[in-house]
Amino acid sequence: MNTAIFPGSFDPPTNGHMDIIERAARIYDRLIVAVLRNTNKNYMFNDEERVSMLRSACMGLKNVEITSFEGLLVDFARSKGSKIVLRGLRAVTDFEYEFTMALMNKKLAPEIETVFIVTSAENMFISSSSVKEIVHFGGPIEDMVPKSVASILRKR
Ligand code: ADP
Repeated sequence: MNTAIFPGSFDPPTNGHMDIIERAARIYDRLIVAVLRNTNKNYMFNDEERVSMLRSACMGLKNVEITSFEGLLVDFARSKGSKIVLRGLRAVTDFEYEFTMALMNKKLAPEIETVFIVTSAENMFISSSSVKEIVHFGGPIEDMVPKSVASILRKR
């Protein structure tokens, strides 16, 4: 069984994330979406809320599991028996960060490969941080996040 891990903050999940998840679920037998718990980061949503938002959004995807993790990603991947870390790429601005992370993870765990899926053109500009900024100022976010996430964001 080919298991891939898609790690991230997902604070909150966006249509950009969903696009990568849906496409990856068609490629791999099992996809684990791994929500990072990092006590040093100031998240808008705690890890349980982020997991719960992803679970609702991924309800129809039978081979997708949502869980949270802390510590080293490679340790988490090993604990799940996965040799594939999946990341999405938007623009060149993502590249340098992703490139460094991929090399660092390769150094830590040579058996694990980082695989990149390129964003769909319509999601290229969507990020969790821009969604948070727009909702803060009362702007429309309905086309950028799953429906269930939009209503939670509005309430917050
Ligand atoms: P992190 O804090 O780990 O970067 P994010 O939740 O911001 O977590 O992103 C998780 C993954 O999803 C990253 O690989 C990121 O590049 C990817 N991603 C985020 N937004 C998009 C998008 N609009 N299109 C494609 N991939 C995206």
